[in-house]
Amino acid sequence: MSNVPELFGSLVFDEKTMKERLPKQTYKALKKTIKDGQPLDINVANIVANAMKDWAVENGCTHYTHWFQPMTGVTAEKHDSFINPNDDGTVIMEFSGKELIKGEPDASSFPSGGIRATFEARGYTTWDPTSYAFIKDGSLCIPTAFCSYTGDVLDKKTPLLRSMEAISNEAVRVLRLFGDEETTRVITTVGPEQEYFLIDKAMFDSRKDLTYTGRTLFGARAPKGQELEDHYFGKIKDKVSAYMKDLDEELWKLGIYAKTKHNEVAPAQHELAPIFTTTNLATDHNQLTMEMMKRIANRHGMECLLHEKPFAGVNGSGKHNNWSISTNTGKNLLNPGKDPFNDHQFLLFLVAVIKAVDEYQDLLRISAASAGNDHRLGANEAPPAIVSMFLGTDLEGVLEAFVTGKDYNSNSDEKLETGVEVLADFKKDTTDRNRTSPFAFTGNKFEFRMLGSSENISCPNIMLNTMVAEELSQFADELEKAEDFDAAVVELIKRTYTEHKRIVFNGNNYAPEWITEAESRGLLNLRTTPAAVAHYIDEKNETLFKKHKIFTTAELHARYEILLENYSKIINIEALTMIDMAKKDIIPAVSKFVKELVDTASAKKALSADITAELEVDLATKLSKLQLCFSKRIDKLDSLLIKTCDINDIKELANYYADEIFPAMQEARVVADEMEMSMDAKAWPYASYGQILYSVK
Ligand code: ADP
Ligand code: MG
Repeated sequence: MSNVPELFGSLVFDEKTMKERLPKQTYKALKKTIKDGQPLDINVANIVANAMKDWAVENGCTHYTHWFQPMTGVTAEKHDSFINPNDDGTVIMEFSGKELIKGEPDASSFPSGGIRATFEARGYTTWDPTSYAFIKDGSLCIPTAFCSYTGDVLDKKTPLLRSMEAISNEAVRVLRLFGDEETTRVITTVGPEQEYFLIDKAMFDSRKDLTYTGRTLFGARAPKGQELEDHYFGKIKDKVSAYMKDLDEELWKLGIYAKTKHNEVAPAQHELAPIFTTTNLATDHNQLTMEMMKRIANRHGMECLLHEKPFAGVNGSGKHNNWSISTNTGKNLLNPGKDPFNDHQFLLFLVAVIKAVDEYQDLLRISAASAGNDHRLGANEAPPAIVSMFLGTDLEGVLEAFVTGKDYNSNSDEKLETGVEVLADFKKDTTDRNRTSPFAFTGNKFEFRMLGSSENISCPNIMLNTMVAEELSQFADELEKAEDFDAAVVELIKRTYTEHKRIVFNGNNYAPEWITEAESRGLLNLRTTPAAVAHYIDEKNETLFKKHKIFTTAELHARYEILLENYSKIINIEALTMIDMAKKDIIPAVSKFVKELVDTASAKKALSADITAELEVDLATKLSKLQLCFSKRIDKLDSLLIKTCDINDIKELANYYADEIFPAMQEARVVADEMEMSMDAKAWPYASYGQILYSVK
């Protein structure tokens, strides 16, 4: 491989490139915009645009695009070339400041949840100068925010930036009270660990379900799944290794800190983790990483599956959102340091997170809600649908001691009594590294583990930033008025922890007893996407988002509608695909195979009177019965789908898909899988689980 430091960021118009290519004054003005969020002067923008264009053209670009994240879950781009005609019929390559700052894609075809009627097609994209421009596929990509003509937000980036602003403002207020006059901004950081499957491309193409829905809708279990646990951290196959190497290189060129790669639990499953960075960059980078994962897989004759549950019976894929808060002076506010017991600032930030997770359980659950992820949450492979927090015995011990008013001394024997072991530095992982918790403290950050693999991480981070901002704001309000600050802080930490410790659970989240226990604690258990999303527009949530200027009422309702609508659409596509596969492929294949059996039976019978055709007759009978049952279940699914036309209410419709359509699909699938098990592999119209999961050598 070529020189990595040189390669790193070579396709990014980053700090280094800006410094090299921009006049000093322009560079300074741009930096100021990036730092303080001031609007960019058009003259400065013109110079920046021109420098960007020159750099892009030197690197082989002919086009530019505003790159944005609409509510579809994927990124969007509309490419324009740099060419401008001259009078003499020749062209020059041009790119103006106006084109850099603002774009006008047709907004009518992006989901807007009714905010913007389709006739008002205008939408604007505006450059987010805090995320560098980069080159992808011969185009200069400008990371942008996307809003409607009337200023309503139509994307995932704008509210994320707003939430980062909100938590920064409130955290700085709290820091000032502790005498910190240095910090001017507080930054949330994120490192998303990304899981994915790699399978053979030809096999992927051969299956309609994978092609249309990203997951298998039928498929009997392979004789070998993940039970031997021999894949996790196992030796990486040559083909996969070549892919990972290529992927790392492409990501590094884009300035993405791809760091760790390994095999995951299920066969054909892998993981990539980057080094953490500022939340909006981490989000852009994760979107790009997912795109590159898919693209590079194709280059290697493979398909990368990002669906949360491509295969039944083996683990699905998730994403771990590692999240923390730091000051612009580089201090991690969630770092317990050597003596957390006496660090009231740390404890206050910690209880702010505890209170936030308790009061806004629903928002965290919603941020991980999707049709795909419904297969995982609560299915003994991912955290349950119940949100709780893991602090580890050390930190819980610190808080318990604090609340009971014991004079905790990390060097005294007391630590043995309370089970607290805060030694030289706080240990990164306490003895019982809890993999089952949806929201775990891991040393100096929280790891939110509910997310699905295909999700855009902006939503969970909007929730996290905003809800913690709210708690910090309440704390600041109270403490700013306090006469004795030190006493007030101690009292506040104690009270907050006592009122919200029901959300802390250090036990096994996969255990069935936890469901009952959580219920008795009054915690929410929102099992499906429609059940979770229903809470999005609860009054307390609307108040929260409005107070911190994240969403207006209209924007919040739009998001609620988009999530529900999207859920219904996905289940609808899956059901239609299932019906198509059943009628066009499976039922005819079974008929054909039964006929072969019957023909064989007649041939056998013709041989001699002693030879029976019991085997063929039995099998043909069994398959015929199953086929009839299957066909009836598919018909039932079909007629259930027709009824959706009569449901106009968005929420009612989503619930109907969850409660009626989805179970009907499961019922049909069971029969198909049984037929697959009884049939000649060659007679079955699709590649088997075994073939697919072990397709990459
Ligand atoms: P593991 O989950 O296996 O313990 P690591 O401790 O290496 O893995 O971290 C997992 C992810 O957490 C990585 O992406 C890492 O960059 C990220 N991370 C580490 N520190 C922070 C932080 N302060 N803020 C956000 N993410 C962080
Ligand atoms: Mg992890």
